Amino acid sequence: MGIRILLAEDETAIADFIARGLREEGFAVEHVADGPSTWHALRTSTFDVILLDWWLPEPNGLEVLKRYRQSMGTTPVLLLTARDAVSDRVRGLDAGADDYLCKPFAFEELLARVRALARRHDRAPSAVISALDVRVDLTTGRAERAGRPLDLTAKEQSLLVFFLRHPGAILSRTRIYEQVWDEQYDGLSNTLEVHIAELRRKLEAHGPRVIQTLRGRGYLLGPAESP
Ligand code: CA
Repeated sequence: MGIRILLAEDETAIADFIARGLREEGFAVEHVADGPSTWHALRTSTFDVILLDWWLPEPNGLEVLKRYRQSMGTTPVLLLTARDAVSDRVRGLDAGADDYLCKPFAFEELLARVRALARRHDRAPSAVISALDVRVDLTTGRAERAGRPLDLTAKEQSLLVFFLRHPGAILSRTRIYEQVWDEQYDGLSNTLEVHIAELRRKLEAHGPRVIQTLRGRGYLLGPAESP
């Protein structure tokens, strides 16, 4: 019945302020204060909304978020941070945040965003992500193309989900590598190419190419351009 919120925030004053306010509004709040306990809570409980501080004691909130999305976690995440640059917002959203709130903020603004995210979660119980004729059910982990199941490794599936989250966007090798592998791209390794080739092989068993190569720029999920 009640909406369950995970609050991951290491600054006691801020955590108390948020938790008290949300409980007064009728939410059930579980509070954790570092990366490991956040990850543990995500693995062992379910929540309707996650409030995640970027700078948590290691692993930080952004790292926990990437890991959570790679493990197919779909609960909406509101990232809380003092970092206000556009590039930081992009990094946060790329890592899988649904929304972004800069400290300091008014409680009313937090509350409005929490309510919006909770409603969104409510409407999407099956959490299917799809583009063209490819779809992945993030709840069950089932991937399919044109209704036929795809037998993907965990890494291929993470790669496919990353493409499905950015249909039609040009994704550089660096960006894909840093998001899906969570490592710096050294420009030398061919790990990415190997995984793309294997993913393509499996996708193209059931239809034309959907992961396009843009020479010198990266990859794009979309139909092939007509000649
Ligand atoms: Ca912090």
